[in-house]
Amino acid sequence: MKEIRKSLVIVGGGPAGLAAGIAAREAGVEDLVILEREQEAGGILRQCIHNGFGLHRHGEELTGPEYAARDIERARELGLDIRCGTTVLSVEENRRVTCVSRQEGLTVYAAGAVILAMGCRERPRGALGTPGTRCAGVYTAGAAQKFVNLEGLMPGRRVVILGSGDIGLIMARRMTLQGAQVLACVELMPYSSGLNRNIVQCLEDYGIPLYLRHTVIDIRGRERLTGVTVAEVDDQRKPIPGTEMDFDCDTLLLSVGLIPENELSVRAGVALSPATSGAVVDDTLQTSVPGIFACGNVLHVHDLVDYVSEESFHAGRAAAAFLRGEDAGGETLAVLDGEGVRGVVPQRLHPGRDVTLMFRPAGVYKNAAVTVKAGGVELARKKALVFTPGEMAVLPLKGEKTAGLTGAITVSMEVQ
Ligand SMILES: Cc1cc2nc3c(=O)[nH]c(=O)nc-3n(C[C@H](O)[C@H](O)[C@H](O)COP(=O)(O)OP(=O)(O)OC[C@H]3O[C@@H](n4cnc5c(N)ncnc54)[C@H](O)[C@@H]3O)c2cc1C
Repeated sequence: MKEIRKSLVIVGGGPAGLAAGIAAREAGVEDLVILEREQEAGGILRQCIHNGFGLHRHGEELTGPEYAARDIERARELGLDIRCGTTVLSVEENRRVTCVSRQEGLTVYAAGAVILAMGCRERPRGALGTPGTRCAGVYTAGAAQKFVNLEGLMPGRRVVILGSGDIGLIMARRMTLQGAQVLACVELMPYSSGLNRNIVQCLEDYGIPLYLRHTVIDIRGRERLTGVTVAEVDDQRKPIPGTEMDFDCDTLLLSVGLIPENELSVRAGVALSPATSGAVVDDTLQTSVPGIFACGNVLHVHDLVDYVSEESFHAGRAAAAFLRGEDAGGETLAVLDGEGVRGVVPQRLHPGRDVTLMFRPAGVYKNAAVTVKAGGVELARKKALVFTPGEMAVLPLKGEKTAGLTGAITVSMEVQ
């Protein structure tokens, strides 16, 4: 088995891994490799052929492949070593990374620093416990997207979508444009977990009904799906008898949540946050294991890829600083989730350093403000007409506000 020394190993060649690699090289790390299990870099963006990417970062609406192509091009200009078709099997606490590929066989990298950028995966049917038969025709929305956009295959003709996350919304429009009839999008919660622009552009523009506070209570079909039953739910999310509606359909797409892909992180001894299912990190995006950093959807599920790239540039620069022996070190402040806030990242920060806090509101808040407080003293406040769980809240916090503080700060929602 080959063992190779590298300053930096990046696991995953999606937008997060690419941005981390670009920033690390620009910060002077010559000896780095990006390991990507697919045959091409670009991550999930390769199958997202709709536009809407890059408004913040590039000031224009790009498709997913166009957005990824810009980073791949920059990576090429910088001469980054991107090894596609290479699956990472394990990352150890001492930063030994084991991977396998057809060309190289089993290889071990002994790395000075590691950046985890493995992205996330979709919650499958098994995680829902929906009753019914185990027939064909039930897909996650991302799997259907891969069939349609990359393989040129049509999963079905009469479609119901369970869950109103962005992938489900995008697929409602995509399947319609491909000639399918999308009968309904069904959402358990009283609000959509997708971006508002996607509800308008993917459902409303095509007359596809969105049933909030509803769920699928039965899946029917022997070989292939023949129909589903949908019912309204009460405040405890239990189906209300008498509200059942039957849909004759051959396809059910699930868009019921994304889970950071953290199997490798767990084996590396990285502490995970129950709120995000991603690593617990400090403001340099360093995990609980020294020299192992995390960014992108493996750290927390983002709404916009622009934020993924921004965060990952930061991780690349931080890994470069670690390799130069300039680790932030010292005591950190805990960043706690307060009222109405779920999963603030980072969970720890070095007092006195500028940081951008990101989180998902726990519900819909109108005319509200997000605040950061330490012992009752307000450090920052940001108002908005509406905060929703579908859109990540982003709050910059100046280092001067936390200088000299000890203990913890709390991020909360306040209704005006
Ligand atoms: C359907 C869909 C629609 C979207 N629409 C929009 C939109 O309109 N606008 C927008 O801004 N954002 C959108 N996004 C979000 C955006 O695509 C993501 O935020 C972004 O792709 C996340 O980047 P990432 O690098 O963290 O993860 P990914 O893109 O998932 O990349 C992770 C990479 O890691 C690799 N990997 C994982 N495990 C291993 C391993 N063990 N070994 C080697 N490689 C590994 C994977 O193969 C993958 O290439 C959408 C996402 C989806 C799924």
